[in-house]
Amino acid sequence: MKLKHTLVIPFFVLALLQSCQQNKPTEGNTVAEVKLQSPNFDADSAYAYTKAQVDFGPRIPSTPAHAKTADYLVAKLKSFGGEVSVQQAPMKTYDGKTHQLKNIIAAFYPEKKQRVLITAHWDARPFSDEDPNMGMRNKPFDAANDGASGVAVILEMARQIQQKAPDIGVDFILWDLEDYGSANDETPRETTWCLGSQYWAKNPTIKGSKPLYAINLDMVGGANAQFTQDAVSRQYAPSVVSKVWSIASEIGYGNYFINVTSGELIDDHYWINQAGVPAIDVIHYSDAAGFYSNWHTQLDNLNNIDRNTLKAVGQTMLEAIYREKPTQ
Ligand SMILES: [Zn+2]
Repeated sequence: MKLKHTLVIPFFVLALLQSCQQNKPTEGNTVAEVKLQSPNFDADSAYAYTKAQVDFGPRIPSTPAHAKTADYLVAKLKSFGGEVSVQQAPMKTYDGKTHQLKNIIAAFYPEKKQRVLITAHWDARPFSDEDPNMGMRNKPFDAANDGASGVAVILEMARQIQQKAPDIGVDFILWDLEDYGSANDETPRETTWCLGSQYWAKNPTIKGSKPLYAINLDMVGGANAQFTQDAVSRQYAPSVVSKVWSIASEIGYGNYFINVTSGELIDDHYWINQAGVPAIDVIHYSDAAGFYSNWHTQLDNLNNIDRNTLKAVGQTMLEAIYREKPTQ
């Protein structure tokens, strides 16, 4: 995950704006008052799926943990009734190594013409190069939030979607090789990050109807997470940003999905947009505070995963999907 600020707002202005936002209680609606159209997203279940991935070890490309996790994810999605395929290709990373890319793709209710795409990356960054301890910076880390959390939310969504069909179809893609980028990569768009989604954008797998829109989930399990509206999401998919943020607020999660804009993030959503599908990013990032505090450090582990955040994101995603009604 890398960021490119398109505009620089003085820190204190943004911090002020944000603190106003944070202190404002979510008005009116609480989850209890709002009648959800979606099934109940089970945060314990999503937490268990996060743990299952972490238990394999860091999912670093070309390691046994990566191979075993791929098999686990394919089996899980099939068990939930998904039509699953794996997009594979040899992929060269910035360090000159070659890894076998595995984008894991699952279609639910493939017969439905109108569809939504939800994605997350499943690979783990090979080193914790943001760790405060210099001696740890070349070491792997659990990537419980930066990778496993988004995938876990998707698995729980898939489980619910199998039990109760929404009116539209749902596609999921778990991206590989998102997080193997070079920290010194300063090229603005063609980057060493997001190799899985870049490859997919050039070799799209969805042959039938194009999804109406896509939502990418990245770092959606940290305590007190705040998701801001990044410039790429706002530029390519402004109506999706408003839809998702207003649903979140309506069902009681406006303290997570805050009405604060942020600069341009080149994450997997950027490449989905290049493939012609309007896509947004739900990511724990703000211009003021940066990424999730344990981003790319040893502390991105299971102890720092918060079920409340998984719930806020998972329920909002399900609600967005179950509110979609096919148009003729
Ligand atoms: Zn990352």
